Amino acid sequence: MDAGQSSKQLFKLNDQATTYKRPSLQELLERNAKRAQDFTPILTFDDLSNLPVEKQIPMPKIFIVSCDDPRIIASDFLGLKQWDAVVATGVAGRIAHQFENMLFLDHFLHFEDIMIIHHTNCSAGIFMNDEIHKALEERAPGHPTIQLPGYEE
Ligand SMILES: [Zn+2]
Repeated sequence: MDAGQSSKQLFKLNDQATTYKRPSLQELLERNAKRAQDFTPILTFDDLSNLPVEKQIPMPKIFIVSCDDPRIIASDFLGLKQWDAVVATGVAGRIAHQFENMLFLDHFLHFEDIMIIHHTNCSAGIFMNDEIHKALEERAPGHPTIQLPGYEE
């Protein structure tokens, strides 16, 4: 990447692309309202733990960390179904940023395995924290410095 060239320019990302119609927030809310019409409330963990043994559901024992990249969806390429695993996503699928969540959930789920998924062509390696800090400063001058999960040069 040339100095002064942002990774967004490098990728020529186009927010106006028409090859796929992504849903608006309103459309997602409408989908949710439609689903809510025939939705059966899920059992609480208290409900689950009080089911007779023959009806109890085994809790997930695998904690998966994957990338936020919208091109990859762990539940798709792993064929996950409800109860199979807990999936957490973050920039570049870094466990460090999910560690506290994992420990919290492990308190009652008692994970047996951790799967960390990194993928080819992960763009997180191109977005540098310096570039993002500069963009934030332009958008919100004087903003407090925040810890970013991306890469340092
Ligand atoms: Zn990625």
